[in-house]
Amino acid sequence: MSEQKFTRRDFLQSACISVGALAASGSGVSALAADNKKDSGNKDGLPSVDVLVIGSGGAGLRAAVAVRKKYPNLSVVVVNKGMPSRNATCMAEGGINGVIDFEHGDSHELHAYDTVKGSDFLGDQDAIIKFVEKATEAIHELDYAGMPFNRQKNNTVARRFAGGAKYERCNYAADKTGSILMHTCLDEAITRGVKFLLDHYLLDVAMDGDKCEGAVLLDMQTGDVTPVLAKAVVLATGGYTRVFFNRTSTPFNASGDGIAAALRAGLAFKDPEMLQFHPTGIRTGGALITEAARGLGGKLINNKGERFMSKYSKRMELAPRDIVARSIETEIRLGNAFGEGMSSYVLLDLTHLSEEQIMNELPQIRHVGLLFDGMDLVKEPIPIRPTAHYSMGGIEIAKFDDMSTHLPGLFAAGETSCASIHGANRLGGNSLTDTTVTGKLAGEGAGEYASKQTGFGSGKHAHELAQKWQAKFKEITSGGTSNEMYDLREEFGKQNWDNMGIYRTGDKLEAHAKSLEEFQAKYDALKIPNPNMTYNTALIDYLEFGNLIMLARCACLGALERKECRGAHFREDYPKRDDVNFLKHSIVTLKDGKPTLAYKDVVITKYPVEERKY
Ligand SMILES: Cc1cc2nc3c(=O)[nH]c(=O)nc-3n(C[C@H](O)[C@H](O)[C@H](O)COP(=O)(O)OP(=O)(O)OC[C@H]3O[C@@H](n4cnc5c(N)ncnc54)[C@H](O)[C@@H]3O)c2cc1C
Repeated sequence: MSEQKFTRRDFLQSACISVGALAASGSGVSALAADNKKDSGNKDGLPSVDVLVIGSGGAGLRAAVAVRKKYPNLSVVVVNKGMPSRNATCMAEGGINGVIDFEHGDSHELHAYDTVKGSDFLGDQDAIIKFVEKATEAIHELDYAGMPFNRQKNNTVARRFAGGAKYERCNYAADKTGSILMHTCLDEAITRGVKFLLDHYLLDVAMDGDKCEGAVLLDMQTGDVTPVLAKAVVLATGGYTRVFFNRTSTPFNASGDGIAAALRAGLAFKDPEMLQFHPTGIRTGGALITEAARGLGGKLINNKGERFMSKYSKRMELAPRDIVARSIETEIRLGNAFGEGMSSYVLLDLTHLSEEQIMNELPQIRHVGLLFDGMDLVKEPIPIRPTAHYSMGGIEIAKFDDMSTHLPGLFAAGETSCASIHGANRLGGNSLTDTTVTGKLAGEGAGEYASKQTGFGSGKHAHELAQKWQAKFKEITSGGTSNEMYDLREEFGKQNWDNMGIYRTGDKLEAHAKSLEEFQAKYDALKIPNPNMTYNTALIDYLEFGNLIMLARCACLGALERKECRGAHFREDYPKRDDVNFLKHSIVTLKDGKPTLAYKDVVITKYPVEERKY
């Protein structure tokens, strides 16, 4: 009998399709599974699929799986600008929050309260209360799906402390929780018949009247621009922390493309100024040392040998991220740090842990320390400094229960979305929970919506948008010099860090808003010196950069007008929280291409607003 081999590569390849495979099918799931033969497509001749998910991080995959689980007759395609595991989810280290032990004092109520307080009371409490209940469900679902969590002696999922939490409810798989979660979800998606359109870049969301009718994609391999019709679209494209170009822990592709597309489609960007700085990035470049390191007793030490967090918080190193990050920056400003300028740093000391414990619980960050700084945290304290890490702001969600946006047929999940769970400061471990919970809700919401639609949109708008992009690409890929865009992008990141970073002032933000207009003008005049559309990576860099400039302009406007301190937003000229004027969400929309700001009340249902002390 001959041995038949079916490798993991075969398994993955079995799920990858081209746009041609969509056109072959019209809308039926069976044809999606067929081999890539080109045929008629839907009645208007455009490629179509029931549910189109953009982004293959935790949120996108959970959404795709949720559709197929509940609506197995619907076809689902996940689009990604690159390989499926190039995302922030894969990089997540420390763990995923969710109460699974109710016998030692922890409860949904405490998780909700910690999250509300962590958010500096900018979180919407109705959503948070549902979120923490679904968090428990999510951990059990992942466990059931085969996610290899670390285990306690009694075989239950292992948990540890994360900042701002009263109990150990951060469930983990060593310090590779995100990668392991993603691969669990990817396997489940492929097994359930989800298809993947890789190396495709979302350009825009298309509308038929007041409904979403699909999306316009750029095929990165060929340069073709393709409208794809869908009955429902889920945006799960991650965050926008790459506005701080070279000082962030996030992947290069965290350029907020989905948020930018939603803005162009007339939707609101909620709380754009709420950008999180993680306390412990490697001093060179900002790669992350997980909060779990502090959860295991890691100490922060300044150049006087002091464990300085005692000056700032009773919770010491396990205060929430905004507080620890500011404390480190304050030490740097006071001259209590090592090094100079952007190379200043303090030390994170983990030498109390044994090598065995590090290899069991934190192997990845040992590797990160060795790789980026040549330092072995088993043997010596490692140099760290805050790094831009997470976007609390995102596409405004209309309803948490199904993660629908204000555009019918368009849903959003994960870091792209803002259901106002994290408010002004996200707690460590709550983001993987967010992707897992909101991804599933968005998938179920999109599935339900799609199953009620009788057909596809006309495709008129999608077609027009595709033509517009094609014309633009022709125009911009002629001329220009190669370094122009990259020099501009470098300067953009630096200026965002200097003027919209951990410490902000009105003067700096006002000047920065003007400077961002100049960046916009320079960007509008940019050209890419490469007309070859096959894997034109400069073109992708260009598109991402354009989105980042727009999102930075929105963030700067929100930060300038929010004349108070709240969570990650710290104004030195308004050093107090102002609940009278700013217990509100910033809502930014585009008017004639310019960001405009309005406010919306925070939803407070259970936990009274109080002073935030740790
Ligand atoms: C180093 C690091 C460590 C972290 N550790 C933790 C942790 O321990 N616990 C925790 O809770 N959180 C952690 N986080 C945060 C958490 O990982 C992310 O917030 C979360 O995974 C975001 O998931 P997502 O699915 O929303 O986005 P992502 O995982 O970023 O996925 C977005 C996807 O969208 C795709 N995409 C983007 N734009 C386009 C486009 N135009 N067209 C097509 N595709 C597009 C991207 O390629 C990507 O695959 C960490 C983050 C980092 C960076």
